[in-house]
Amino acid sequence: MSNAQTYTEAEVNERVREALEEVRAKVQELFPRAKDGNEQQVDGVEVIQKINQILSQLVEEEVTDEECEKCSQLMVVKHGRYGRFLACSGYPECKTSKAISTGVTCPQCKEGYLTEKRSKRGYIFFGCHHYPDCKFATWNRPLPEPCPSCGSTYLIQKYLKIVCPDKECSYKRISEERKN
Ligand SMILES: [Zn+2]
Ligand SMILES: [Zn+2]
Ligand SMILES: [Zn+2]
Repeated sequence: MSNAQTYTEAEVNERVREALEEVRAKVQELFPRAKDGNEQQVDGVEVIQKINQILSQLVEEEVTDEECEKCSQLMVVKHGRYGRFLACSGYPECKTSKAISTGVTCPQCKEGYLTEKRSKRGYIFFGCHHYPDCKFATWNRPLPEPCPSCGSTYLIQKYLKIVCPDKECSYKRISEERKN
């Protein structure tokens, strides 16, 4: 796929800025600031490896197996100012785009789905795709997996633990892998 286009200097600057924001948001998510005032020990080599990985993801368009609802071409993952989203690979002819679902139905309105978003300061959070009609939002990544203990329809990832979002329920386990 050729996407040779000419950009103005301002557009190039904007793309560079967005790429850097994306990298910063990803690194912040992988190495969250330690809570309770404890400094977190971070492996510098691991951070550099992650940055390389994130940069190569930015260059390679990640093609999904989801079809565009208008023209049936495959959707690709794009990195925008407000986080990742899906866009039609037929762009610019087809301008269809949509939020990426986490596979979890919104626990508040029970109609929308939760999608990855990015705050103005660059932090990743998860909110209902029916925003602004539904303002549900959480910092913890929701996982499309029912709670084996209380039957909650989803679980959440809190750093290296997977826990139940229901505060009355004490279900938790250690996550086998860091989600990125
Ligand atoms: Zn399309
Ligand atoms: Zn909602
Ligand atoms: Zn539970």
